[in-house]
Amino acid sequence: MEFAFTPEQELIRKTAREFAEEVVAPRVAEMEKTRQPPLDLFKALGERGFLGITVPTEHGGLGLGYVARTIAIEEISRISPALGYMLQVFALGMAPILDYGSEEQKRKFLPDLVTGDAFATVTVTEATGGTDPRGITSTAEHKGDHWVLNGRKVFITGSSLCKWQTITAISGQDDRGRTEISAFLVSPDMEGCRPGREEHKMGLWGTQLGELVMENCIVPEENLLLARGKGLRVALTAISETGRSGVAAVGLGVIQRALEESAKFANERVVGGSPIGQYQGIQFKIADMALALDAARLLCYRACWLKDQGERCDVEMAKGKLFATEAAMVAARHCAEIHGGYGWLEEYVTQQLYRDAAILIPSAGTSESMRIVIGRSALAG
Ligand SMILES: Cc1cc2nc3c(=O)[nH]c(=O)nc-3n(C[C@H](O)[C@H](O)[C@H](O)COP(=O)(O)OP(=O)(O)OC[C@H]3O[C@@H](n4cnc5c(N)ncnc54)[C@H](O)[C@@H]3O)c2cc1C
Repeated sequence: MEFAFTPEQELIRKTAREFAEEVVAPRVAEMEKTRQPPLDLFKALGERGFLGITVPTEHGGLGLGYVARTIAIEEISRISPALGYMLQVFALGMAPILDYGSEEQKRKFLPDLVTGDAFATVTVTEATGGTDPRGITSTAEHKGDHWVLNGRKVFITGSSLCKWQTITAISGQDDRGRTEISAFLVSPDMEGCRPGREEHKMGLWGTQLGELVMENCIVPEENLLLARGKGLRVALTAISETGRSGVAAVGLGVIQRALEESAKFANERVVGGSPIGQYQGIQFKIADMALALDAARLLCYRACWLKDQGERCDVEMAKGKLFATEAAMVAARHCAEIHGGYGWLEEYVTQQLYRDAAILIPSAGTSESMRIVIGRSALAG
């Protein structure tokens, strides 16, 4: 077994940490106050190469893979879970093109997405189809050299920011009479496509979430991904491998920060004549955070390493996502509790970590969904 990072991965950690501390940290208060997406920081992610970490060099990326991506998201999320979250989403948006796009589609769409001149996401969820992606009702009708899409997607991160969105829609029935789902690259700039309602979340302020509405949206044939009827494969590979590893990496950043803030406060805060870090009740909480951080990292890095080797990794990704996001929620709560009443004041990052961590749980699939993936695999032996 090899537990060392490569020199490139170490360099990504150093670069991401510097970017987070020097460029992102001074902007967090403004993001929390305005709740607006910091577009210039999104662009900076591209300029510094972070958007292209998993993109092969022939398409303008760094070609460093998923372990390196996790490290970058983790470091940025340590300072701003919201920015780390958007970094993960933009790579998620590129994944269907990288994994299943034709050479022509790669050449057409990737260059702008790697530099941050445009952004992408994956747009699957509907009011009737979240955990169950087959429950969607959006339709795609084939008409000559194009498709006509109708429907309403909900809970889409970057719905109004992302120029390219991999959308799933029902395109007919397959040979066995089952609903056939296809995936298309659709843009809110296309005729008949527009952002819908904006949602207001309790945290991850600086990310954007909303609906995407398609009303007789005309999509050219060349924007079909992989093949007719292969849409679930396209979307679910992206969500289960790129989406889950990305959300898990945000969780790692939250645990790391919670641990740092807890240790600092526990060493400084004197109650009853001693720093509270001298009390076992506090030490146990901090010990649990340190343990959770190690365990979550090992699960997440292993899953990403498998992805980088081209091995099957869906179950390992589900384990990493489940463990890291649940552990982030617990670590954020304990961190706030260690701070006593201060933990819930706006000027302390503790309450922000708690709000941000909570939203990671349903993102890219709920904890129940992860347990279903893990449980089915365990039952199959
Ligand atoms: C911040 C945020 C960002 C998001 N970004 C995107 C995005 O960019 N693109 C996108 O397509 N979607 C996105 N989503 C949607 C997200 O993927 C869904 O919210 C998630 O999959 C759950 O779907 P749902 O909300 O419809 O819940 P439902 O599917 O209605 O589930 C409700 C509850 O029932 C449970 N449940 C459902 N089925 C089962 C079962 N078989 N066994 C046990 N329990 C079950 C669920 O775990 C959950 O607790 C985002 C969500 C959030 C919160």
